[in-house]
Amino acid sequence: MTLDNLKAENFRNIVCCDLSFAPGVNVLYGQNAQGKTNALECIYLFARGRSFRTAGEGEMVRFGERGFCAEIAFSDLRRQQTLSWRYYEGKRRRLRNGAEIERVGDMLGHFRAVLFCPDHLQLVKGGPEMRREFLNIAISQQNGEYLKRYALYKRILENRNYLLKSAQKNQYFDRDELDAWTRQMAHHAAYLSSVRQTYVRRIDGFARAIMHDLSDGKETLVCTYESDTPGETTEEREANYLARYATEQKREMLAGCSLVGIHRDDMALSVNGTDARSFASQGQQRSVVLALKMAEGEESREQSGEYPVFLFDDVLSELDERRRAYVFSGAGDRQFIVTSCEKDPFSSVNAIYVQGGTYVSSCGQR
Ligand code: ATP
Ligand code: MG
Repeated sequence: MTLDNLKAENFRNIVCCDLSFAPGVNVLYGQNAQGKTNALECIYLFARGRSFRTAGEGEMVRFGERGFCAEIAFSDLRRQQTLSWRYYEGKRRRLRNGAEIERVGDMLGHFRAVLFCPDHLQLVKGGPEMRREFLNIAISQQNGEYLKRYALYKRILENRNYLLKSAQKNQYFDRDELDAWTRQMAHHAAYLSSVRQTYVRRIDGFARAIMHDLSDGKETLVCTYESDTPGETTEEREANYLARYATEQKREMLAGCSLVGIHRDDMALSVNGTDARSFASQGQQRSVVLALKMAEGEESREQSGEYPVFLFDDVLSELDERRRAYVFSGAGDRQFIVTSCEKDPFSSVNAIYVQGGTYVSSCGQR
């Protein structure tokens, strides 16, 4: 999959841009605070259905303006498509190939991208919520059912926690209602944890091979899904969740929240047999995250037949020459859009100079 073009108006510090990208490596370069990450944020909106930097769309509107619009054109093996996003005075309109998109789920999965930004270095040492988010975002781009069921799960969790909170405060609550939420939660948790488990097994194979190459065979990375209620099949998981909710009910009422469920799960990462979450060095963390992101891309290609677009914000400058070369080897059939403060350190096919929200491409000059 390739991103062909990005148009944006009044998005962050961009007044108006019309940017073309080439297959292979594209670099956005320039000094700090010029609009490199802003462009990636705008592109990634269409892959994730929201910004990776803010929850509020209003923040993305250029200071002093009332709205923004953005549009991408992208191609896969079959055709070129467009996605557009307009936001004006609090109202949002999203279109795919000119047709209105009602729900965010209908936007996801068409333009697929893997984002790697400095915050993601926390994926190894940060809390389990970082790793759950990694899984949720990666899986949602290829499985609409997962996204739907996950949204449902969150709503059920909120309702269930509300009743448990009442129980904790000795206030009245409807026991039948609590049981109903519990049954639904077990049902969706079983499905969601099975999907996550399968996904982690799949990326584990890729991540191991990539880490092996990145470290010259010195480091073995193993990723495993850690569920608090495992099971061989989805049905078995559901039964196990129900059994656990029954035994944990008193504790949950005392705590005033759900102590069991996929919102407590994690992805264990180990390097050479020790837990990377506790013991990885800075360099190892960087390699692990890089391996995970590249594995996400490989897995996505295995599922869909095409690589997603790789968006790397500011994370390659710290890598040594050998690892950089490894990342970009075979970039012929993968597209990278990377940012850097240095002018074109990656022998790109398209270097774009960024200054004050304007973009000047060297395409054709090299
Ligand atoms: P760095 O190399 O430091 O990461 P960058 O080129 O990636 O820099 P960006 O994050 O893309 O920088 O852009 C930051 C600039 O955008 C800042 O000058 C900031 O003030 C400006 N900016 C952010 N939001 C808005 C907005 N809503 N309206 C106008 N300008 C904004
Ligand atoms: Mg930046």
